[in-house]
Amino acid sequence: MIADRARFRGARKLSRATGLRIPDQVFHGAFLEAVSSGINFEFLDGPLRAQLLEFVREFLSCGCRDSPDCGCPERRFAGKVLELREEGLDHREISARLLEDFGIDVYPADILSYLEESVHVLEAIREVAQIQGRGALGTACDRHLKSIVR
Ligand SMILES: [Zn+2]
Repeated sequence: MIADRARFRGARKLSRATGLRIPDQVFHGAFLEAVSSGINFEFLDGPLRAQLLEFVREFLSCGCRDSPDCGCPERRFAGKVLELREEGLDHREISARLLEDFGIDVYPADILSYLEESVHVLEAIREVAQIQGRGALGTACDRHLKSIVR
């Protein structure tokens, strides 16, 4: 999972500012719990606060009853990486964007393997869709494939 590769660069700073023990793995339960409920954002400096607010808005706003343990944050993060790729960013640019917007570190090489893996999954789904005569699904896979592989 690409979400398992995500590290929060300001984790130590965040731990110091809040007095909480916050892991640097972003999609670790303790990190998500702290960010979604335990932190008073007013005590954080501007950039750190902005990144965390953006993180909450983008990945933790699903409204499931068992949020943030519902799986949505991880799924949304994986989707975000694909979305950035489909906007035309390469794996290095995606890595830089995740750091800039959310303070999240993911190695470009990990992003590249995730993109390759996604291509294989999409190709497999497209094949099954063709066999089962599900044209719309096949077309959707095709469209995503074209914008990822270019
Ligand atoms: Zn959810």
